Amino acid sequence: MNAPVKLYEGKAKILYATDDPGVLLTYFKDDATAFNAQKRGSITGKGAINCAISSHLFQLLEAEGITTHWIDSPAPTEMRVKAVKILPIEVVVRNIAAGSLCQQTGIALGTVLAEPLVDFYYKNDELGDPLLTPQRLLLMELATAEQADTLRLKALQINEILSEFFQSCGITLVDFKLEFGLDAAQQILLADEISPDTCRLWNQSETDPARRVMDKDRFRQDLGDIEAGYQQVLDRVLAQPIQPGGERML
Ligand code: UDP
Repeated sequence: MNAPVKLYEGKAKILYATDDPGVLLTYFKDDATAFNAQKRGSITGKGAINCAISSHLFQLLEAEGITTHWIDSPAPTEMRVKAVKILPIEVVVRNIAAGSLCQQTGIALGTVLAEPLVDFYYKNDELGDPLLTPQRLLLMELATAEQADTLRLKALQINEILSEFFQSCGITLVDFKLEFGLDAAQQILLADEISPDTCRLWNQSETDPARRVMDKDRFRQDLGDIEAGYQQVLDRVLAQPIQPGGERML
């Protein structure tokens, strides 16, 4: 068998071609970066943990009627996905103020938002992933107006499903980042990953602001016990079976 053809290597994952042009293989790395790759490190076992958490959450979302790129996970650090053209937009949903929202607005960390906030960012490392206004998104032709509306609606729908799921795990979903792609039929599929690298997750049995963090903020802020935080998210997620709920309406 020929060596797999590497299509792209990102900060946390490598994308390989497969014999089927409609299918790609994602390899999850232990590498961690933060602050636009100015801080670099490695979190032992992170690749396998993030792959397993993402696989579980993609299956949960599929059971709830959200179309995703997930096919299966043939090995602990590998996920087979449908080939899509990734839209260069990071869709962030926030339930509680944290991170850049606090830095840019002065809203206090931990403030519960009256309704979820959906922010679009331009996925461009050179420019430092700038925050987009809806008008700039259209100006730059990153998506059509109809696609942008769909992204917003899907992000809110996903937030409802994931917030309820994490609640059942004793975890608060503070905020998270999603990426979407277009398949050959121009359908919008949820892509990338959903993991402690891309979500802020707070342990509901801890009140201390440093101890409650179960996500990449442990790495960003040098809080220690990073592997333990990620592992605990995995254990709690896997303990919750997926119950098909059918499509939910907003
Ligand atoms: N996020 C991400 N990738 C990015 C930027 C943000 O996965 O390139 C996630 C981040 O982990 C958090 C959410 O999106 O769960 C909101 O991040 P924020 O805008 O607050 O930026 P940060 O504070 O992470 O720089």
